[in-house]
Amino acid sequence: MTQEIGGFAALGLHPNILSALTAVGYEEPSPIQAQAIPVILAGQDMIGQAQTGTGKTAAFALPLLSKIDPAKREPQALILAPTRELALQVATAFETYSKQMPGLNVVAVYGGAPMGPQLKAIRQGAQVIVATPGRLVDHLRRDEKVLSTIQYLVLDEADEMLKLGFMDDLEVIFEAMPETRQSVLFSATLPHSIRSIAEKHLRNPQHIKIASKTQTVTAIEQAHLMVHADQKHAAVLRLLEVEEFDALIGFVRTKQATLDLAAILEAKGYKAAALNGDIAQNQRERVIESLKDGRLDIVIATDVAARGLDVPRITHVMNVDMPYDPESYVHRIGRTGRAGRTGRALLLVTPRERRMLQVIERVTGQKVGEVKLPNGQQVLDARIKKLTTSLTPLVADAEATHGELLDRLTADIGCSPRALASALLRLATKGQALTLAEVEREQPLVPNNAPRERSERSDRGDSRERRAPVPLAEGRARCRTALGARDGIAAKNLLGAILNEGGLVREAIGRIQVRESFSLVELPEDGLERLLTKLKDTRVGGKPLKLRRYRED
Ligand code: ADP
Ligand code: MG
Repeated sequence: MTQEIGGFAALGLHPNILSALTAVGYEEPSPIQAQAIPVILAGQDMIGQAQTGTGKTAAFALPLLSKIDPAKREPQALILAPTRELALQVATAFETYSKQMPGLNVVAVYGGAPMGPQLKAIRQGAQVIVATPGRLVDHLRRDEKVLSTIQYLVLDEADEMLKLGFMDDLEVIFEAMPETRQSVLFSATLPHSIRSIAEKHLRNPQHIKIASKTQTVTAIEQAHLMVHADQKHAAVLRLLEVEEFDALIGFVRTKQATLDLAAILEAKGYKAAALNGDIAQNQRERVIESLKDGRLDIVIATDVAARGLDVPRITHVMNVDMPYDPESYVHRIGRTGRAGRTGRALLLVTPRERRMLQVIERVTGQKVGEVKLPNGQQVLDARIKKLTTSLTPLVADAEATHGELLDRLTADIGCSPRALASALLRLATKGQALTLAEVEREQPLVPNNAPRERSERSDRGDSRERRAPVPLAEGRARCRTALGARDGIAAKNLLGAILNEGGLVREAIGRIQVRESFSLVELPEDGLERLLTKLKDTRVGGKPLKLRRYRED
């Protein structure tokens, strides 16, 4: 609905970009987008400060795509990102937003992949280059002209880039671009190092900061669950089993996500519906009425559609996708705990979003405790408890009404009352899994190296890891140290040492596996050699770390 895209349309973006946005399902610009897009469109240099998950990618990608000339087959925009994963994410975002722009090409340039095809794509006139600084400098060494046509530069996650030690590379890159370019810098924090880069390389930048006001939330019990993005649906299903809710509202970011999750829940037998800006107003009202009177128990909504929603039955708010800012978090969880009742708010946090969690805690002045993904036994216990709760009142008088029928049926069928009761249970529970084995089969637990990595490693890490070699995530290299459990080393010691001395951010470090006589650590492929040099003299527990790239087989 064009009317729903109004927020974006008012910003002056190219019509092709607007129609791509309609397809993606964004309902309205996030605060940083609303502020940054007009500035970037106007050609101004800019510094944008906002936390992770606030929609910074679109804040620069949308206006840049509106300005780029796809008919000109030469690099026009350069986006620098700290890691290969982030570079790929940004490149994918550009591809998504430029779906309606024929002739527009995006190339991702990062370490750990052959240089030839990257250079070829640049020379063939990809208009957008998304790169990690290290690899881009390698390209510049081969061909100093690769950046000579750049008109727009974005430093994305600038603070993280500096933490990863890219300062020198950035200087080389700045030198290789025309001075007339427009430069935009995005960062969650603005330490001195970033300010001085901005002073040196940006021209009279406009400073945009999405500030967080302090707010208080009372009568709402808050908890968060660490989960990988691809595990969210599984996590939601398990949480719904163990949380005792009356009505629940789940928040996601896009219209499509409301539909997807509502469909999954319906298929599992929940009375669930989606609520988003595409749904006609009278239909939306019907959904809310149904939630009020119990025809629905779960509504999956976007922020826009759920604005001002007031349903006293709501005992739970589930933040399936992270809100953009603490204010909207407070707003979301305010959907529960209405009219003096208490409520519960759950927040799913992906590893990248840890910092946003801290911001939320700071702004609300409350600690958001951690809950673990419920295991099979907990799911089973919850199911049996529900069954007990629903049967207990019936047992009181059902014998009077159905006792005779039971006698007759056992006689007719020729079975014991226990056999008949079991059959009735099977019927009543509609084939629901009610043994541990069945539950585990029905809800396979988090299959990859998701957050349990940290929680389970200590108790059963080693044996589990030995059984199944874990595939290496994209952009990561596995490194080995001869320090292991027998040296009294734990994963947190390795993590601490690498974070401190390597100057990395937590997200840059992947799995850490401590074995008896050695340990494996996953580190960013990009800039690895430099990192290992930095860690050359690092000691852990008094012993030299001597981290080396590890090649399997
Ligand atoms: P940041 O760079 O600030 O950490 P991202 O740009 O990666 O945040 O965006 C986080 C998520 O929010 C992405 O999944 C993105 O698709 C989504 N998103 C961004 N802008 C919007 C919007 N206006 N409406 C809905 N979702 C959005
Ligand atoms: Mg980002």
